[in-house]
Amino acid sequence: MSALIQTTNLQRTFTVSAGLFKPKQTLHAVNGVDLCVNRSDVLGVVGESGCGKSTLARMLLGLTPPTQGSVQIDGQDISKIDRRELARRVQPIFQDPYSSLNPRRTIASIVSFPLDVLGIGSTEERKKKSLEMLERVGLPARYANNTPGQLSGGQRQRVAIARALVINPEIVICDEPTSALDVSVQAQILNLLLDLRKEFNLTYVFISHNLAVVEHIATQVAVMYLGRVVELRQTAELFKEPRHPYTQALLASVLTPEPGLGIPDTGLGLSFPDPLHPPTGCAFHPRCAQRKPECSTSHPLLRRDAQGEVACHLYPSNR
Ligand code: SF4
Ligand code: MG
Repeated sequence: MSALIQTTNLQRTFTVSAGLFKPKQTLHAVNGVDLCVNRSDVLGVVGESGCGKSTLARMLLGLTPPTQGSVQIDGQDISKIDRRELARRVQPIFQDPYSSLNPRRTIASIVSFPLDVLGIGSTEERKKKSLEMLERVGLPARYANNTPGQLSGGQRQRVAIARALVINPEIVICDEPTSALDVSVQAQILNLLLDLRKEFNLTYVFISHNLAVVEHIATQVAVMYLGRVVELRQTAELFKEPRHPYTQALLASVLTPEPGLGIPDTGLGLSFPDPLHPPTGCAFHPRCAQRKPECSTSHPLLRRDAQGEVACHLYPSNR
């Protein structure tokens, strides 16, 4: 079976000006990412902010072109897919339901917007489809004429989900879709996304800095650090036995019962490095409790073995 989503050596750089009269610098936001997502899988992408997750999401949506490499959907390079066709097949759900919905439009017109833009169905059919989709995401028809400002955060995210799904996409790219919500509402939205995935045979790429959320929803997880994937595993295996020291540190920091009281030595004590000046060798080495002499000079490649993929000199195939 060929992959539904495949990225090959995907790279994106940005030119950053450090200030007037200072030379421009190059930021490698995404630095050679190879991913493969099969139909109806959920790929979780985790890492601290600044690791390149959102840039990756924008490239998967065709919103940001790669500087090098490619994104393929069903074997077709997305740069060669007509924009409207791409929008029909790949839809986003973003973090902030407050800013991603037009405050002056009614809920019904927000949800039918993709149908209107793509000219799908008659006016009556679009209205009917939008109301059905609102109902399906848990918003009864009485909300149809409200504006986003009259809804709670969770309800607004339901609207964003209805808008994404109303045109029957194959793929949904979710960038921190529950991060702005209360914990109890987060769980409801995650469970809704899981139900919808089954019902509509959707494939998700689910981006989050929250490991608990990713454990709940993903079938496989890519851990990113400074623009690269450092570990890629099946979800249950990654959470049972993380291999990369960065993944281990991320998991350990989640397990801290009361942050600030007894913070364990996770190796994440040093702050996230400046992406404009990434460390040499393994980019994680200044923060790594398990680093070896070669780690500061030799870059570990992401290699596959029986347990998945990992980029670290601790694993023999990387020496
Ligand atoms: Fe730590 Fe070295 Fe592995 Fe990097 S390559 S994560 S520094 S042990
Ligand atoms: Mg982000």
